Amino acid sequence: MTDSQCIFCKIAAGELPAKVLYQDEDVVAFHDIHPAAPVHFLIIPRLHLSSLFDVGTEHQALLGKMLQLVPRLAREQGCDDGFRTVINTGQNGGQEVFHLHLHVMGGPRPWKKQA
Ligand code: ADP
Repeated sequence: MTDSQCIFCKIAAGELPAKVLYQDEDVVAFHDIHPAAPVHFLIIPRLHLSSLFDVGTEHQALLGKMLQLVPRLAREQGCDDGFRTVINTGQNGGQEVFHLHLHVMGGPRPWKKQA
């Protein structure tokens, strides 16, 4: 299911431009438009889930897939020495785009600590 007002649904559908680094039938990964680190990309499910608050047992495989992709894509982006992963949830979690997304940040430090 998608949300016609959601910018990340539009990116997943190819209706908004993004620098996509990986996609398959379940997930899309693309570079963050305002990178907080030399490497900063987002992994989203194609399914519109607003945040971690929307995740249920039926989404376990999807979330597992997103997490499993992190080290593979991070390495492909040159983050062999490590990376940071962040999921902001809800207003008090600093979430600004309400389509579940996982931030992956890496590259030579120093760089901003917040995503
Ligand atoms: P925060 O901005 O506090 O990190 P989120 O966790 O909701 O809040 O993150 C949303 C992220 O989406 C931000 O890092 C922002 O730069 C990124 N972003 C917003 N619009 C786009 C876009 N069109 N393409 C790529 N990244 C985007």
